Amino acid sequence: MKLISTRDKTQKVELSYALLNPSANFGGLFVPENFPKFEEDFFQKAQNFSYKNLALEIIKSFEFDIDEEIFKKALDAYDKFDDQNLPLKIDKICENLYINELFHGPTRAFKDMALQPFGVIINELAKLKNENYLIICATSGDTGPATLKAFENSSNVKVACLYPKDGTSEVQKLQMTNISSKNLLSIGIKGNFDDAQKALKTMLSDDEFKNTLNKNNLKLSAANSVNFGRILFQIIYHFYAYIYLLKNGILAKDESFDIVVPSGNFGNALGAYYAKKMGAKIDKIKIASNQNNVLTSLFNDGIYDLRDKELIKTISPAMDILISSNVERLLFDKFGDIKTRELMQNLNEKKYYEIPKIDDFEAKFCTDEECADFIKKISKTGTLIDPHTATCFKFKPQKPTIITSTAHWVKFTPSMINSIKNAQINDEKSDMIELAKEFKDEIPDEILDLFDKNSTQNLVVEKSEIKSAILDWIKK
Ligand SMILES: *Cc1c(COP(=O)(O)O)cnc(C)c1O
Repeated sequence: MKLISTRDKTQKVELSYALLNPSANFGGLFVPENFPKFEEDFFQKAQNFSYKNLALEIIKSFEFDIDEEIFKKALDAYDKFDDQNLPLKIDKICENLYINELFHGPTRAFKDMALQPFGVIINELAKLKNENYLIICATSGDTGPATLKAFENSSNVKVACLYPKDGTSEVQKLQMTNISSKNLLSIGIKGNFDDAQKALKTMLSDDEFKNTLNKNNLKLSAANSVNFGRILFQIIYHFYAYIYLLKNGILAKDESFDIVVPSGNFGNALGAYYAKKMGAKIDKIKIASNQNNVLTSLFNDGIYDLRDKELIKTISPAMDILISSNVERLLFDKFGDIKTRELMQNLNEKKYYEIPKIDDFEAKFCTDEECADFIKKISKTGTLIDPHTATCFKFKPQKPTIITSTAHWVKFTPSMINSIKNAQINDEKSDMIELAKEFKDEIPDEILDLFDKNSTQNLVVEKSEIKSAILDWIKK
C-alpha cells in the first residue's frame, strides 16, 4: 500500500519515503490510500494476542514497503516500558469509566508510545540507505524529551532539540539537559515556543543551511507529530482498548464504547478515528481541549476560526495549540483532496473555514480553574491525574468510556500542588516526593534521578544564534 497527499491524491509515495520526507505536495500530509478493515473474528482472536503481536498484525495489514523485521525491531522498544509485556495500563475509575494510561514509557508522556518505535524505524531506514539524518525538533515540553530519548545512541540520526529556556516544567528541562548520548543536542532559546518553532520552520526551508548539512554528510528530516510514522503507532492502543473491553466482558460484540482524548495537534484523536474506521466499535470520539478551544468550535459549530484568537498559556501546555495540524487528515478523509486544499487555503488566507457537522466527534473544553477542580476531585478517589488528562473529565460517560491519559503527573508537580493544596511549591523534588507519599503513588526512578545528575547540556542562545549553534555542533 502507498500513501497519498491530503492536497493532491495523485501524489503517491511509499511509507519509507514518507517517513523521511513527511511534507507532501502543496503543503499536504501523507495518508494511506486505503484502510484495512478488521471484522469480528479478528477481535475474537486478538483477545489472546500480546500488545506487540496485535501491533504487528495491524501494521502488516497495511502492506507497506518496510520489512516486517524492521517493525518487529521497532516494537521491541516497548521492552523498556514499565511492564515489559504491555506498554500501557488500563484501570477502572468508576462505573462505565476506564483510564488508558499511555505514559509508562521512558519520558512519561504518551509521545513515547509512538516515538520509541518510530526512532528505531528511522534509524534502520537510514542505515539501509547508508545515509545520515539531522532531525530538529521544537518543543513546548513533552515532544523534546521523547524525541531525544527515541534517538538515544542512534548510529545514523542526530537530533537537535529547541526549547524555550524558561518555558517548560523543571522536570521537562532536566530531561532535555541530562543527556549523555553524543548524537543529541539541546538548545535553550531566549524566547518562547513560537520562537523555537519559527526558527525550525526557517531552517527547514533554508537551502544554504541544507547545503552545509549535505557537505557534512547529513540530510534534514522532521519527527513532528504530522509524520505518518507516528500516527501509525497511535492507532494501535485504541484498538487495544477495544479488545480489553471485549475480553473483560465490559462490551458485548455488538456494543460500542466512547473514547475521550485530550487534544492539541490531533494526532492521538486521529489515531482513534482511524481505529474506528478500521473496525474497532468506537461510537463517539470526545475531544477535550483547554482554553485554546479551536477544536471545540470546529466540532460543535463546524467552524475552524483563528480570527481574533491568541494563544493562551494554560496549565496543560502540550495542548496550547491553535493550528492543530492533524485535523487536515480528517478533512481529507471526509471531504477529499480538492476540498481539503481549499479549506487549508481559507485558513491560511482568511483565518477560518467552515465544514458540515462530523458525527464521529463531540467536543468540550476546560478553563484552568475547571481543570484544577477535576485534579482535586479525582485525587479524592486516590488517583492523581495530570492537567492534560484532567480536561477529559468535562465529559460525563454515557456508556463504557475510555479516557486517554497522556502524561504522568510528576511532570507537572507545581500545577498538582496548586490544584490539590491551593499552594505554591517550595522545592519541586521534595514536594513531588511528599505528594507521591500522600497518595501512595510511586515516582519513576528515572525522574528522581534527574534531580541528582549534573546537566550535561547547558547551551542557551539568542533566537538569532540557533542556526550557527547547530552548525558548530555538526562540524565538531
Ligand atoms: C502531545 C500531548 C497532548 C496532545 O496530543 P495531540 O496528539 O497533539 O493531540 C496531550 N497531552 C500531553 C501530555 C501531550 O504530551
